[in-house]
Amino acid sequence: MYPEPLTALPEEDHLFQSTVRQFAREEIGPHVREMDEAGVFRKEIIRQFFNLGLMGIEIPEDFGGQGGTFFQAILAVEELSAVDPSAGVIVDVQNTICNNALLRWASPEQKRKYLPKLAADTVASYALSEAGSGSDAFAMATRAVDKGDHFLLTGRKLWITNAAEAGFFLLFANANPEAGYRGVTAFLVERGFPGFQVGKKEDKLGLRASSTCELILENCCVPKENVMGEVGKGYKIAIETLNEGRIAIGAQMIGLARGALEHAIKYAKERKQFGKTIGEFQGVQFQLAQMAIDVETARLLVYNAARLRDAGKPFLTEAAMAKYWSSEIAEKTASKAIEILGGVGITRDYPVEKLYRDAKIGRIYEGTSNMQKVTIAKQILGL
Ligand SMILES: Cc1cc2nc3c(=O)[nH]c(=O)nc-3n(C[C@H](O)[C@H](O)[C@H](O)COP(=O)(O)OP(=O)(O)OC[C@H]3O[C@@H](n4cnc5c(N)ncnc54)[C@H](O)[C@@H]3O)c2cc1C
Repeated sequence: MYPEPLTALPEEDHLFQSTVRQFAREEIGPHVREMDEAGVFRKEIIRQFFNLGLMGIEIPEDFGGQGGTFFQAILAVEELSAVDPSAGVIVDVQNTICNNALLRWASPEQKRKYLPKLAADTVASYALSEAGSGSDAFAMATRAVDKGDHFLLTGRKLWITNAAEAGFFLLFANANPEAGYRGVTAFLVERGFPGFQVGKKEDKLGLRASSTCELILENCCVPKENVMGEVGKGYKIAIETLNEGRIAIGAQMIGLARGALEHAIKYAKERKQFGKTIGEFQGVQFQLAQMAIDVETARLLVYNAARLRDAGKPFLTEAAMAKYWSSEIAEKTASKAIEILGGVGITRDYPVEKLYRDAKIGRIYEGTSNMQKVTIAKQILGL
């Protein structure tokens, strides 16, 4: 017997998916345009994420989480992103990056201290990138100086998602620059630590409601018990966390693409030209069919990578392929959706122009499309 088909969900996942879908449509949908224009995500919706358990999907029930699976986190990100990719990325960073890293590498004391907060009311950020170190992330300039019972961190982080709302930061700094990447260390930083400040918020093309900020560390005092894992082993935590996180960016992008396709189908059934709905023209039908093929292929890649990860099997190449392909088709599908809507497609009165703007980031963060190809090529060439 083969395992179940990838898109056949167990009853529990199916119920979870329907709940998140309904919540996204009813509770987020009416606010999407206003949040995009204001460049601010409603605090009330973030509170609802916590109340629904969407911020602690994999956190064990003992710590106040849902005790769910990585695959469920993927389903949640997909469903939220079909309505608003900014909502998707908030839940994505919390679950598949920050919570996930703590579940894997935090000490029992660190888990007891932080996981209940992350499940209940504290938004988390993942702070790796800097102005001078993006794709080459371990060339970071932020330094951590050992002062006995604490470290002093100095530097600046850039592009940090969720930072405006976050109370907790999984932050990387180099504690031994002479050792290169082997000095990179993971720190658990609270917003209130002395010397820590959230700086400028970026004004972006897309994903505007999701906050992206600079972090400023000036002799930021981090107690030694807040080092996660070993000093100098942060590079492993950073890499392995992103390997998993990028499956969720794939989920964000397939959600976005599905959202665009649904808007295009609805419009094609309503809009009349030459005495017929435009969906009756084969030219439009073929465009919709291609969009559906693209969404389905990307979804299979994302679901497969997530299932491999949950099964404890290697998934590096599959995750890179899923992220690469989903972000490609998201931009293409949103662009086609605009064309199917014609002139109104590029106006803010319809949601597809926003999805098109939101799609662009998929090819950039958590490893650009080039960097995904670097990973895939290394694997297939055995380099
Ligand atoms: C909205 C947003 C949210 C983000 N959120 C976070 C976050 O929460 N936490 C965090 O740590 N970071 C975050 N980032 C940072 C993001 O991960 C980086 O922007 C990304 O890794 C690319 O780095 P860069 O912008 O410095 O581009 P660069 O690395 O300068 O790349 C520029 C171009 O050069 C290409 N390139 C670079 N090196 C190579 C190579 N070896 N081979 C081929 N091509 C190459 C790239 O593909 C790209 O096209 C976010 C960024 C944005 C825009």
